[in-house]
Parts: sequence; structure tokens; C-alpha cells
Amino acid sequence: MAENDIRIKRKIIHIDMDAFYASVEQRDNPEYRGKPLVVGGLPEGRGGVVATASYEARKFGIRSAMPSKQALQLCPHAIFVRPRFAAYKEVSQKIREIFGRYTDLIEPLSLDEAYLDVTNDKLNIGSAIEIAQQIKQAIKDELNLTASAGVSVNKFVAKIASDIKKPDGLTFIGPSSVESFIENLPVEKFYGVGKVTADKMKKQGLFTGADLKKLTENEMITQFGKAGAFYYRIVRGIDDRDVQPHRETKSMGAEDTFAYDLTGIDEMYAELEKIAKTVHDRLLRYQLKGRTITLKIKYSDFRQITRSLSLPNCTDDFDSILNTSKNLLAATDTENSRIRLLGITVSNFIPVETKSIPPSDQLRLFDI
Ligand SMILES: [Mg+2]
Repeated sequence: MAENDIRIKRKIIHIDMDAFYASVEQRDNPEYRGKPLVVGGLPEGRGGVVATASYEARKFGIRSAMPSKQALQLCPHAIFVRPRFAAYKEVSQKIREIFGRYTDLIEPLSLDEAYLDVTNDKLNIGSAIEIAQQIKQAIKDELNLTASAGVSVNKFVAKIASDIKKPDGLTFIGPSSVESFIENLPVEKFYGVGKVTADKMKKQGLFTGADLKKLTENEMITQFGKAGAFYYRIVRGIDDRDVQPHRETKSMGAEDTFAYDLTGIDEMYAELEKIAKTVHDRLLRYQLKGRTITLKIKYSDFRQITRSLSLPNCTDDFDSILNTSKNLLAATDTENSRIRLLGITVSNFIPVETKSIPPSDQLRLFDI
């Protein structure tokens, strides 16, 4: 506790653009305005998913990551468009520019989301609420888009706060209300708690932050592993994580958990091919090439191994990624194994100095 107490109270803002991809499309294409719009994979394509749905589409129950086919069923008159990443990146850079007027401590989480530390803002405004308001206004005036902001003393609370009054919201959780805010927070709203963990918590009668607070640190760790230690501190209002302006994505990959365990090498290769395709697409999209290919295998008994190989040159080539992954797989004991998950990651990217790499944060969106 002491370390937290002596620390100067920070002022953290989390800014999150509202329905970002869909809003940019509606801004640039007047014919989409006021209509249910889905940006993502097309419903006629195989395996397409929703990246972002406009608020009009959300009324029909359409959500991000939902199969586009299902979205079409929910709203047969929805308009489906493919994402224009170049356009979103451009807007993202302009948003970043606006942030930069107030602070250099900017940690982007994706194209449309960032943490800002404004404890010592460049313009000596002092009030984080005022800064958040000005940023929202500048985004409106200059970019014709809306954002929601969360203002608090740490990243965890700021992030949850930005989601409270979407769209075009601003929520402030002051130092004295942080602890009670977290106590009242349902466990599924905890950032990082997925559905599986939330269900596990609820089964044990843990529904809110206050319930989690009743467990000792050891109990939290036993129950929820590393994350348990993190949440033990979070429910006490302690989150010392800094806003990290230079955090970089070091890898890009994809993985898949299978509906049934893979037992034959042919089916394993077939699945690897699909995963390699996804990784290849992502590398191309962000113009990245990496030297190291890592294969992740999780067996039916949940044992997990990774195997890596560094190539002589950086690559984004589909065949190189696939063949390297196949070789790595073949070097393991595939004969007697039942595999429930396979993943491929490419890392060891060309250094930033020699090649223009989009800011890491833009990649994290599709990272695993
Ligand atoms: Mg957003």
C-alpha cells in the first residue's frame, strides 16, 4: 500500500473513438449515415466477421467479432463494407496529433484508443476533465468524429470509465470514489476478465469487486493465477502501471482452438495452412516482415509447448511461414499426440530505422 500512498496522484485519460471504423465510413460516405452499417468481412465470404458496427446496426444486436453471416440474419437490410485501413490509420494519426498538444505520454492501444498521462500537461491546464473536454471538442471540430473519455487516477479505472457513457461521453472517477467504483463493478466489466473467468467467478459467488475483495492475495492467485495477483491490487484501487509511450508490438500472429482434437499430421498441416494464411495477411496489411517463426502447440491435456526457428532473412512470405511451421511441428512428437490448439507467431521484425513500420499500437488490434 505504501508505495501507492506516497505516489503523486496521477491524472490519466482514456480516449476511445465511438464505433470508429463505422463512423469514419459514415463520415466519408453520406449515403451510409443513419443506416445500419457493418464494417468487416462480407456475409457471403467464408468466415467473415464484424470489425465494427454502427450504432444503428447495434440496435439489431450486431456486435464486433460476430460472424458477418449472423449479422445479416439479425439485420437483413444492413449495409456491409470492407474496412479501409489506410483511411483509419490517417485519422488515427490526426487524433494522435491532437493528443500531442497536451502531453507526450500517449500510449495507443489500437488505432482508436489510447491512454494519456496528463499529470503535467504541456499547456498547464491542470484539470484532466478540462483536457478531456478539449480533446473531444477538437476531434469533433477537426475530424468530424466523436470520442468518449474516461478520466481517473489510473489506467484501469480510466479505461472502464470511457465506456460508461458511450457515445460522446465523458466520465470522471475521482480519487475518493475509485475504490467504491471498483467495489460496485460487476466482474464481467473488469478489463481482462473474459467470459470463462467471469463465469468461474460467478459460480463461486463472486459477482462484484467487493466480492473479490473478500479473498486473500493467496486465494486470488490460487484461483485465477497471475491475473489473480493483479486483481487483488486492482480491487484495492492500486494500479501503478505507467502510460508507456514507446511500447511496441514485438510480434504478430494467430492461433486457433479446434472443435475436436487433431490426431493426424494431415489435419494438423491443413489447420496450420489456415493459420499461416491469417498471419501472412496480417503481415501484409501492416507491411511487416519478421525473421523468427514460433509455433505454439497445446495438447488435449492442456500441456503447451512452443518451438521457434529464426530464418536468415525477414519474411512475410506465405510458403516460408507455412513450411517453417510445418517443419517445427514435424520435429515434435506428432505420432501420439492430440492437439487442441495451434498458433503461429512471427517476430523479430526489421528495425524501425531501416523500414517504416506503422506505430506498434496499430498492430495490437489484430494481435493475439
Ligand atoms: Mg472504440
